[in-house]
Amino acid sequence: MIDLYCERLGPGLLAEPINAASNLAFFIAAWKSWLLIKDRESIGYEGFLLVGLIITIGIGSTLFHSYATNWAKQLDIIPILLFQLCFVWFYILKVIELNYSKTAIIVIALFTASHLTRQFPHLLNGSLIYAPAFCVIITLAIVHYYQKKNNPTLLISATAIFALSLFFRTIDNAICSYLTIGSHFLWHILNGVLIYLVMKALFTNWPAQRHLS
Ligand SMILES: [Zn+2]
Repeated sequence: MIDLYCERLGPGLLAEPINAASNLAFFIAAWKSWLLIKDRESIGYEGFLLVGLIITIGIGSTLFHSYATNWAKQLDIIPILLFQLCFVWFYILKVIELNYSKTAIIVIALFTASHLTRQFPHLLNGSLIYAPAFCVIITLAIVHYYQKKNNPTLLISATAIFALSLFFRTIDNAICSYLTIGSHFLWHILNGVLIYLVMKALFTNWPAQRHLS
């Protein structure tokens, strides 16, 4: 059994009820994102892929907070990383409109940095692995604002939500003696909000015409 979180006191499928239930936020984010894109004809497989990954994040995280095993941990980690990589790929290619090679360099750098930070799970209660994604979202927020995209401050709001969610993820074990449920569930809920905001930033700036490629 892997016991990373304050709420878990022992083995058992229902040992983290609030952590598990708060994954509902990801399914709501997937549903809200789907409503956002379903009538936009210029959005192709990209919308399905990202919404599918959000649902997978919810399933993977629910399994991890229920089974708390190594295989479930991988199901928790991999969909989040895939969502980050696919989102950054589509955002840079479609909204900032960099070319394929520059976009690939940024996505590979994000993947490499995420892999490197994974070697230090003891730092910041394991939150260090999200530092590369946080750096990317800050950069995209600045570009989004100065390029006067639709909803120009949306990614700034997303960055603030991400900072807050990382804070609650990091202090989970430290506050355990004061609050027995910990604060990891707030990481889930705020990340549901974060995911919806970044999806909105991407798809309200999506090119009106589908480019054949
Ligand atoms: Zn979690």
